[in-house]
Amino acid sequence: MIIGVESTAHTFGVGVCHKGKILANVRDMYHPLTGGIIPIEAGKHHTAVAESLWKQALVDASITEKDITAIAFSYAPGLAPCLLAGMRFVKTKAKLLGIPILPVHHSIAHLEIGQSIGAKDPVLLYASGANTQIIAYASGKYRIFGETLDVGIGNCLDKIARAMHIPFPGGPHLEMSALRGKYHPLPYSVKGMDVSFSGLHNKALQLRAQGMSAEDVACSVQETAFAMLVEASERALAHTGKREFVLGGGVACNARLQAMCKAMCKARGVTFFCPAKPLLIDNGAMIAYTGELLFKKKLCISLPKLDIAPRERTDQVSVTWK
Ligand code: AMP
Ligand code: MG
Repeated sequence: MIIGVESTAHTFGVGVCHKGKILANVRDMYHPLTGGIIPIEAGKHHTAVAESLWKQALVDASITEKDITAIAFSYAPGLAPCLLAGMRFVKTKAKLLGIPILPVHHSIAHLEIGQSIGAKDPVLLYASGANTQIIAYASGKYRIFGETLDVGIGNCLDKIARAMHIPFPGGPHLEMSALRGKYHPLPYSVKGMDVSFSGLHNKALQLRAQGMSAEDVACSVQETAFAMLVEASERALAHTGKREFVLGGGVACNARLQAMCKAMCKARGVTFFCPAKPLLIDNGAMIAYTGELLFKKKLCISLPKLDIAPRERTDQVSVTWK
């Protein structure tokens, strides 16, 4: 029985996993009153909600603390105050219960959870707030084949939404708005398998200031940004020769992005996977699931070695559990 704690950014989550099955997955999201995430405030939020979410996860999984074999937590990448809040909580629990800790890399957990729905060796489009990467396994590591050269896709959507007075997170609002909008061309920037969103972001704000409707801005931003992601993903599929594709991260909740990825996969004869929404956004279940993979290979960490790594990249981790 593995319990997983997620705290890399806006969300504190606790999940329970047993033999690859998710038994609990609860979360609480920090919402800034205005503007974007304030890391210190998000950290305080996580500490405040940790104990009650922990208890709720135990209730949902119908277990007690005595049933837990090990605690997994996301040590990287993320906002330092948020990561620290998670690590402190996990350390206290592990000491109290006398159980080992499993350090899980958050981005890799987004990838591994794709396996729980059948993907074996996929290319992952990880489209979240801060992270936008195209990742696949090769020779002992999850390699980053392409990524954003500037802002993450979710942050880009959130910033455009914020300029239109839509509160964080703006992505879901833009999705609804885009349904009523018309497409106008915006700067489209793909460099090999990398993408860049700053030109599109600036142009969208300019067009809005010049009177373009919020619906047309939303539609044009989505069509352009998602087409870039799909083009780069398809190139990674062609390059690696892999036959499976997983869409992950919070922006993967977007029905338009899902439809565009699905269409590309169908045209290439590639199997498309997209986890259910509670496993797409930041969550503790994917941390518990990946933690269990580590536990099977006895990849626990001793308390003195416990640390966070806010900037550690996916391809810095040796994948020793596969
Ligand atoms: P994550 O960082 O993976 O938890 O994802 C959070 C990001 O996903 C935020 O930037 C949200 O705006 C974005 N997001 C969530 N739902 C949607 C949606 N339906 N369409 C577009 N973006 C979304
Ligand atoms: Mg994430």
